Amino acid sequence: MNNFLQHLECSRCGETFPHIVPQNLCHSCGKPLFARYALDQLTDTWKPKQLQSRPNTLWRYRELLPISNDKHIVSLGETLTPLIHAKRLGAQFGLQQLWIKDESRLPTGSFKARGLAMAVSKAKELGIKKLAIPSAGNAATALSVYAASAGIPAFIFMPKDTPTYNIETCQLVGANVTLIDGLISDAGKSVAERKTDEGWFDVSTLKEPYRVEGKKTMGFELAEQFGWKLPDVIVYPTGGGTGIVGMWKGFAELEAIGWIGKKRPRFISVQAEGCAPIVKAWNEGKTHAEPWQNAHTIASGLRVPQAIGDFLILEAIRESGGTAVAVTDDAIKEAMQMLPSTEGILTCPEGAATVAALEELVGNGTIKSSDQVVLFNTGGYQS
Ligand SMILES: *Cc1c(COP(=O)(O)O)cnc(C)c1O
Repeated sequence: MNNFLQHLECSRCGETFPHIVPQNLCHSCGKPLFARYALDQLTDTWKPKQLQSRPNTLWRYRELLPISNDKHIVSLGETLTPLIHAKRLGAQFGLQQLWIKDESRLPTGSFKARGLAMAVSKAKELGIKKLAIPSAGNAATALSVYAASAGIPAFIFMPKDTPTYNIETCQLVGANVTLIDGLISDAGKSVAERKTDEGWFDVSTLKEPYRVEGKKTMGFELAEQFGWKLPDVIVYPTGGGTGIVGMWKGFAELEAIGWIGKKRPRFISVQAEGCAPIVKAWNEGKTHAEPWQNAHTIASGLRVPQAIGDFLILEAIRESGGTAVAVTDDAIKEAMQMLPSTEGILTCPEGAATVAALEELVGNGTIKSSDQVVLFNTGGYQS
């Protein structure tokens, strides 16, 4: 049992809502809701030492996860992902402390498993009967498998040029797949238009409050793997930005319960040149991002023209002293060979984008040779 979840709170206006019924966005201002916990009750009672005897999965951070009763947890074995010291790749950029957080080891081969394990568990707890999702690919696969495992029907909307792996895996586990002539934003519109009539619960990232809770465990793992001292830099391939938003939230929670200090990694958000709304907003000094027109890139997970959490991503980048950069598809393709050939780590285009960004980041002094740097390889290679 876990009684630390208190309520949901709007990330923008602060209004609070009960967590015991399904919720999407803030009823007042339409922005994402965040799970809030009784952190003061955890401060003296929960210690890092207690983790040692727990299973090597993200569920070891149970006290700061939003599921009330363990019997509702839907798990496919969300293993802690390795943090690999990339010595040979680092040497090529003059970095002695370059690390890869290899998220490809998670169920379905991408870190989307973290968020959807959490969202589907919570949906089961709340008795939700049908789940719908717009996706650029990996979220669809992750929702489909967790929904299948929970026995909840899933309705998937994704662009018709989504990677075959994602389309086929959804179909294999029996999800209802609709292919859209458009982008993830168009898929989102289809879900929004039909959900009331169909009785679907919308699991779009950050429109649903618990996927971000799953993604924040990336930050918990990093903190634990580095001995509760955070690295200097996190380089993160950004689509909807749930990972950055989640890790930022998670670090604040760890500080509040006294497990880490004030230091935060500088968040460097990497996008593709063909779809870089966050980079554009960052360069223009804006607090919100304009929708990106004609989005295109081989990194389908980065093909997100508009992120509902744009202001939260930009805030985390700004407050952490980070930045945002765009890379070309050609540079991504090159990096898809460079990472495996130097480190033996196979990567998806999104993970490769972080490697592709290194040359510029080291070249212009954003990353210094003494920095401890973590690249997120957010998924594995799929042909
Ligand atoms: C979804 C996805 C991303 C983007 O993640 P966000 O946290 O939504 O920005 C990056 N890489 C892969 C492989 C993805 O599937």
